[in-house]
Amino acid sequence: MAPTPRNLPQIIAAIAATLKQHEDEVTDLDGAIGDGDHVVNLQRGVAALQAQSAELADLDWKAAFQKIGMTVMSKVGGASGSLYGTLFVTLAKTLADGAPDRRAFAAAFAAGVEAMQARGKSSEGEKTMLDVLIPVARCLEREAERPLPALLDLLVEVAWAGAEATRDMVATKGRASFLGERAKGVMDAGARTSQLMITAIAAVVGGEAA
Ligand code: ADP
Ligand code: MG
Repeated sequence: MAPTPRNLPQIIAAIAATLKQHEDEVTDLDGAIGDGDHVVNLQRGVAALQAQSAELADLDWKAAFQKIGMTVMSKVGGASGSLYGTLFVTLAKTLADGAPDRRAFAAAFAAGVEAMQARGKSSEGEKTMLDVLIPVARCLEREAERPLPALLDLLVEVAWAGAEATRDMVATKGRASFLGERAKGVMDAGARTSQLMITAIAAVVGGEAA
């Protein structure tokens, strides 16, 4: 079964749990090559979404993503707040009312990630969350017809490979770009949290499907 906004409270709770579980690790990553606030920024937004989750569950995807986007923009702050806010607002703008099929969702997600690139003036290979989100968007579009469990496994693998790849990159966007070669050897915090959140979402959606 395709996930519906009825699954959102569980998805948001799973995201909160994975961020809590990895908060020290992510703070160390952002502390090493950024300013250390990344996980706290995200947690502020996720706490606000948890408070709204019953309301979100009653909407369709288009309206839910619009509401999520506004909350993320106003609560998260930092580069990640405007980037994730752009993702969700673009998802809302691109989807039609009602229940999108997997192809429509994949196309909207790809449009959202493209809008993030325009917003951040950034692309793949610059040691950011986009090194996870761009390959995930591509995989979702290319593999949309696979059976759900196989698709979810693939997305989790692609997200992990994307986060891992940032370790050896030199940053050309965001605070880590001030460090030049010295940022090498540290995984990007935003890539790590993107990967953690995608993995958490896949676990909920996969559990629903089973
Ligand atoms: P800030 O850098 O403003 O403190 P956060 O700490 O919340 O914001 O988020 C930092 C993360 O945002 C980085 O690890 C990186 O993944 C991502 N990021 C920063 N700038 C950009 C950009 N221009 N394009 C894409 N992602 C970016
Ligand atoms: Mg930061």
